[in-house]
Amino acid sequence: MKAENIAGDALEAVTVDELHKSFGDFEVLKGVSLSARQGEVIAIIGGSGSGKSTLLRCINMLEWPTRGRVRVHGEEIALKSDGHGGLMPADRKQIQRIRTRLAMVFQSFNLWQHMTLMQNVIEVPVHVLGVKRDEAIAEAETLLKRVGLYEKREAYPAFLSGGQQQRAAIARALAMKPEAMLFDEPTSALDPELVGEVLTVIRDLAEEGRTMLLVTHEMNFAREVASEIVFLHDGRVEEQGEPQTVFDNPQSERLKKFISTVQ
Ligand code: ADP
Ligand code: MG
Repeated sequence: MKAENIAGDALEAVTVDELHKSFGDFEVLKGVSLSARQGEVIAIIGGSGSGKSTLLRCINMLEWPTRGRVRVHGEEIALKSDGHGGLMPADRKQIQRIRTRLAMVFQSFNLWQHMTLMQNVIEVPVHVLGVKRDEAIAEAETLLKRVGLYEKREAYPAFLSGGQQQRAAIARALAMKPEAMLFDEPTSALDPELVGEVLTVIRDLAEEGRTMLLVTHEMNFAREVASEIVFLHDGRVEEQGEPQTVFDNPQSERLKKFISTVQ
């Protein structure tokens, strides 16, 4: 499902252009460009160390690129030189504003352990977005029902399974009403029998037309939900295209090898 503007172009949600990222002398991203239009699901695949997490972290402004541009809903993130060969934000207010339009879900759930699920879900709406507490609670109840955790709303994360914690993390991300969601291997830390319940929630979000960038090793799932597959190798986009093309007719030897090792 794609939203169309008056001119008939699909609206761009997240775009990165010639993104480079180095840690010291080590260049992790070597000029990555990709674009997700509204309603698209981009699945990012690639071996360990290929730069997938760094790419998401640069988009979500947890890291600053060394070079290149990031646009969120057409708004370019203003960056300036940090004086050490890298970039830093030129406008803190802009960063704060854009950050709330993206929500990231991590491999390791990252719920606040000292808070109940309800408190986890309402924290950002109440304390960052300025939503009234009772409204945030009502919304959180809806979201926790949606991910099947309403009954657990007063439980602390430590008392939940990994699958439940990750579903709660997704509810927390949704409570920000993000315009795009970033998932970094959301099922990699789960016992195999818990993977399905999390994928079901993500599939549901894809079907309702959410814009998502999804790093995953679940190739069957990527094939099923993604509009586009991006294969990263050594900090570069080695190959990209529709799932059927990428999986059934890979061009590069590296992608062929990667697919044969993960399936
Ligand atoms: P992936 O998610 O594809 O496994 P990452 O983006 O996590 O890859 O990491 C890519 C490379 O960058 C790895 O070699 C990793 O060790 C390195 N790296 C990631 N973050 C840092 C950091 N903060 N400092 C130094 N090196 C890093
Ligand atoms: Mg990673």
